[in-house]
Amino acid sequence: MTLEPIIGFEIHVELKTNSKMFCGCKNAPFFAKQPNIYTCPVCLGLPGALPVPNKKAVEWTIMLGLALGCEIPLLSKFDRKHYFYPDLPKGYQISQYDEPLAVGGKLGNIRIRRVHLEEDTAKLMHQNNMTLIDFNRSGVPLVEIVTEPDIRSAEEAKIFLKKIHQIVRYLDISDADMEKGSMRLEPNISVRTGKELPPYKVEVKNINSFRFAGKAIEYEVKRQSELLKAGKTPAQENRGWNEGKGETVPQRSKEEAADYRYFPDPDIPPMRFTQAHIAKLKAQIPELPDAKKARFIKKHGLNDYDASILTETRALADYFEECTKDASVPAKTIANWIINKKVNMKPANLVALIKQSTTVEVVSRAVIAKVLTDNPKAVEDYKKGKEQALMFLVGKVKQITKGKVDAKKTKELLISLLQ
Ligand code: ZN
Ligand code: MN
Repeated sequence: MTLEPIIGFEIHVELKTNSKMFCGCKNAPFFAKQPNIYTCPVCLGLPGALPVPNKKAVEWTIMLGLALGCEIPLLSKFDRKHYFYPDLPKGYQISQYDEPLAVGGKLGNIRIRRVHLEEDTAKLMHQNNMTLIDFNRSGVPLVEIVTEPDIRSAEEAKIFLKKIHQIVRYLDISDADMEKGSMRLEPNISVRTGKELPPYKVEVKNINSFRFAGKAIEYEVKRQSELLKAGKTPAQENRGWNEGKGETVPQRSKEEAADYRYFPDPDIPPMRFTQAHIAKLKAQIPELPDAKKARFIKKHGLNDYDASILTETRALADYFEECTKDASVPAKTIANWIINKKVNMKPANLVALIKQSTTVEVVSRAVIAKVLTDNPKAVEDYKKGKEQALMFLVGKVKQITKGKVDAKKTKELLISLLQ
């Protein structure tokens, strides 16, 4: 029996707009000093409150869609997705159903089914047999990226997720901080025995690290494969990753019994876009990691490895390019310094330091050679074992260079040349 893992992802990313998705409340749940300070009738879900979409969040979602190679339909709308759970007091989440903001993209070999916009829910805290609710997070703009089931291994999944994370950060639309939960991963995993897609899938909910996502996938593939080999079909269910146990565990799911009863939100008019507006957003997309990496290889003559490291973040890439503006230092030398020495200084200072350190060595070599020819007696004495002769020679070098060279380095160079 051939077993092949079939993996897709739903990825939620909180946008870092100034205000929330459908109200004017501050969007800063992670910086709030107290629970429930950024709230209003809209994000508390009070009856009669009217949502107004955040234009920036809509535009950023379109830009993300474009960055992932998606089509942007000229019409999009918000729908109500109903379920009953205390993190959502109005009984539904404003999300997008059949007219998402972006559809049909591709990242590497992985097809992107859709990118849509919705609102985050409140945060529940269970303590001392009580559940407390913090609404600071309620109504934060939340993008959901849905892939086709094109991933075949945990390794491939991690590479894909890191790429998504990197693009989101390049666009500067989210902190995408996994530890804080501003980027959350949900792999759906099944294993097929033939050519057809399996008749079930297991969704692992709310994973907060690439490593855990990889481990959850490996665990599920193994668990499901064993069931299949025993002639059973794994159950369609939601599970959670338990890092302590190193396994996935079945989850009582809030949508288990649910029919979401999607329908268009009557409080929010559909959104219509023009090609001109979309073109304008497209023009605002910065150079993305892959393009930047290819350019660094071509323009600066870097190898693949160096170019990958230097384009890891936009800030690092910008730093490197700022340094290369001084054409007198080879880009490769700058790359080596940044990668190997993990420097922490202004670009101009780094370039100055590189220049200084290379010049000092060149100058002192020439000077040392001259000092050695001019002082044969001291050289003889040193060779006979007189240590003071070395200090005499260092003094001569210092005299000529007016003290501009490093004494320790000069001494090292002298010894190596004397030998
Ligand atoms: Zn609000
Ligand atoms: Mn969602």
